[in-house]
Amino acid sequence: MVDIRSVHKSFGPLEVLKGIDLTVRTGEVTVVLGPSGSGKSTLLRTVNHLEKVDRGTISVDGALVGYRRTGDRLRELPEREVLKQRTRIGFVFQNFHLFPHLTVLENITEAPVSALGRPRREAVEAARRLLERVGLADRASAYPRHLSGGQQQRVAIARALALRPRLLLFDEPTSALDPELVGEVLDVIKDLARQGTTMIVVTHEIGFAREVADTVVFMDDGRIVEQGPPGDVLDRPRHERTRAFLSKVL
Ligand code: ATP
Ligand code: MG
Repeated sequence: MVDIRSVHKSFGPLEVLKGIDLTVRTGEVTVVLGPSGSGKSTLLRTVNHLEKVDRGTISVDGALVGYRRTGDRLRELPEREVLKQRTRIGFVFQNFHLFPHLTVLENITEAPVSALGRPRREAVEAARRLLERVGLADRASAYPRHLSGGQQQRVAIARALALRPRLLLFDEPTSALDPELVGEVLDVIKDLARQGTTMIVVTHEIGFAREVADTVVFMDDGRIVEQGPPGDVLDRPRHERTRAFLSKVL
């Protein structure tokens, strides 16, 4: 489903991704761990072309992200095409990023109606089902500022799902939440995992990784140091850097 090949990315002189290779199979959950600054967010952002790679390729569902191959050359896709690709890849941010001036329901229907041209009535029905699914059926007409962080993040997840993405990316979805609100958001993500949603989740929630991940990836300094099933990477890490990191977060 996701194929990341030899991806390099620099910001000016700073090389942030130093050759990343990663495969995510359909229906699988990949959890990415690693210290601050190791390149986790940058990697996620390259997957939907919010950041352009300098070298290497990423494909999602068989299609190159951000480029078209003509002969043996890659040509960048026009912005319109990039936006279309992005509708198939949901992204949930640490700080929710809801539209503050729209209600919960409008937040969810906005993109399906304006980006995909779905009939509004259909979008509203779908949004109500999604709100049901994330446990917020009774908050459809609330504004984001009247919701708790956990509720806002669940709306953000519903909003991402409204586009029926093939892949969901989460960048530390619970790290801005008060501890007592983390569980309700993780429960929604666990539910998605059970239903076979393909996801890449950057998180420091080790318990979640252990329970839900098919693959755990440990990144450090722009590289994947180690990857494998949670039982291996979390319980029997082979690399000293993984051990050192885990001893700090566990
Ligand atoms: P954290 O756990 O703190 O979120 P991270 O693993 O997500 O860290 P990234 O956000 O990917 O790390 O950043 C990796 C490095 O790239 C950092 O040194 C960061 O300062 C730098 N960086 C990220 N985005 C940019 C940018 N747009 N311009 C310049 N430098 C950037
Ligand atoms: Mg980050």
